[in-house]
Amino acid sequence: MEKIPLLDLREQYRTLRGEIRVALDEVLESQQFILGPQGALLEQELAAYCDTRHAVGLANGTDALTLSLGACGVGPGDEVIVPAFTFVASATAIVRLGARPVFADIDPATFNLRPEEIDARRTARTKAVMPVHLYGLPAEMDTINELAARHGLIVVEDNAQAIGARYRGRRTGSLGAVCGISFYPTKNLGAYGDAGMMVTNSEEIAAKIRCLRDHGQTGKYVSSEAGWNSRLDEIQAAVLRVKLRHLDDWTMTRQAHARRYEKLLGGLPGLSLPRAATHTEHIYHLYTVRVEGKSGRRDRVHDLLAGRGISTGVYYPVPLHLQPLYSGGKDRRGEFPVAEEAAEQVLSLPIFPELSNERIERVSEALKDVLRETD
Ligand SMILES: *Cc1c(COP(=O)(O)O)cnc(C)c1O
Repeated sequence: MEKIPLLDLREQYRTLRGEIRVALDEVLESQQFILGPQGALLEQELAAYCDTRHAVGLANGTDALTLSLGACGVGPGDEVIVPAFTFVASATAIVRLGARPVFADIDPATFNLRPEEIDARRTARTKAVMPVHLYGLPAEMDTINELAARHGLIVVEDNAQAIGARYRGRRTGSLGAVCGISFYPTKNLGAYGDAGMMVTNSEEIAAKIRCLRDHGQTGKYVSSEAGWNSRLDEIQAAVLRVKLRHLDDWTMTRQAHARRYEKLLGGLPGLSLPRAATHTEHIYHLYTVRVEGKSGRRDRVHDLLAGRGISTGVYYPVPLHLQPLYSGGKDRRGEFPVAEEAAEQVLSLPIFPELSNERIERVSEALKDVLRETD
């Protein structure tokens, strides 16, 4: 039987081949590869898409977070509150600046930062808080912004997974002071290599990052501070401009797929499905369910599905406080119980725009069987 991948980018390329080749040809004919017209146009288009005034193209999403934090003045000795359940890059961006990530637990229903944790984890050194819109679902931004404002903390959004999602009608990326976006190839808006961007309404922050991404140069061969080499290249910008035109259609298709999964899998014992509150819009970068039950059941479900030719993913099996990088040689189990339970239960089912209804039905049928087998 035909295998079902978690994600198949080749199917997307088949539908885009003509447009992509024209766009790449234009860059190749121009022989302008760094800081050219494609990047500048993408910045304008992406700022408009995210409802922000400014966008600055960068080499990848991790740099976008690092430079965003740096431009807000985060540095050695500062603490930044970040969820314990996210991709490790959210915290790496903090460490790169000599600052310290302070982990916070998550809300079990949304997998996102639990706002009350800001009060619990805050110290005199806390400078910023980094909500992550995990799997494509916006974090609870009103409460986060309110607590941050009360304590004078800067809010930096990690929007690597939720481009286009809305919170109370407003786009992710426009909800904090500054925001980092990743165009890693598997993201909803993916480049053909590494690429990233920061968006903000602050002209000052945007100007600072524009300077930092290009060796801190303020004029031709004049630098006033040690910057980075972190630029989004013209080839990637050209690809992303083509794809951005399709993004809303793709998002709607992902949402239709999610509704189909809900219809097929809703109400099964031992399985809980992703849910968005009425004021948040989920764009389903990943369709992540919880497999409840005895320890190890999720891994068995994953393996049994693989045996039936169905790929699923675990994002993420190890929460940040249990990573060797952050555990400091200590056994930190039990510190963030909700994050730890999520790490044991989450399973992401195939979801991408080109997935057919028939394949969604096959995944759902197989999952039902496997849940029965492992009950
Ligand atoms: C992908 C991702 C990043 C890092 O982006 P890169 O472009 O790979 O550097 C950061 N945070 C989260 C939550 C991500 O999913």
